[in-house]
Amino acid sequence: MGNGDGDTAATLLQRLHEHYRQHPVTGASGHSYISSEPRATASTPGLPFNLHVVDHIDNSLGEIEREVRALNPDAEPRPEQLDRAYDWYIKNTFNSSEADQQRRDTIIVRQRLEHAIEMGDTSVIRPHRCPACRRLGLFWENKSHRALCTYTPCRDENGVARRWTLAHLAYQYIAARKNVGHVSAT
Ligand SMILES: [Zn+2]
Repeated sequence: MGNGDGDTAATLLQRLHEHYRQHPVTGASGHSYISSEPRATASTPGLPFNLHVVDHIDNSLGEIEREVRALNPDAEPRPEQLDRAYDWYIKNTFNSSEADQQRRDTIIVRQRLEHAIEMGDTSVIRPHRCPACRRLGLFWENKSHRALCTYTPCRDENGVARRWTLAHLAYQYIAARKNVGHVSAT
């Protein structure tokens, strides 16, 4: 089961959180995980559990919180329910400038990619085109935490495959969507 286009950033964030709650961290420091525990990930195959998930959720929500406060200091408190964070973000930046809304949409797309990859689903990269050669065929590289273009002629001046951050892919995605909108509106 992949995280196709049907799963929103909110859904994925909630799923990450539920997984963490079902498999709480144990250990002296509160930060160790007994990897030999066979049942730890049995209920959610393919979801590599580690503490990074907790930081990941905190960082994602923290980013949303900062963005909302910067644009709308009068915003009501963020909803307790995790999967409502994005609705809260959109609602409280509804009257922001077009540039700020584009930034918001880009952040949400990027976080959606991040949540999926955090759960081991790198297939979310596939619908994205390489920003340089415009081809499909990006491949997720865990080591660099970037999407790598597998098209051989698409190399930089040193002959090295191009690698793109999720932020870059999200930016391109939202910018393209905006351009399409403009074309159809005229
Ligand atoms: Zn390329």
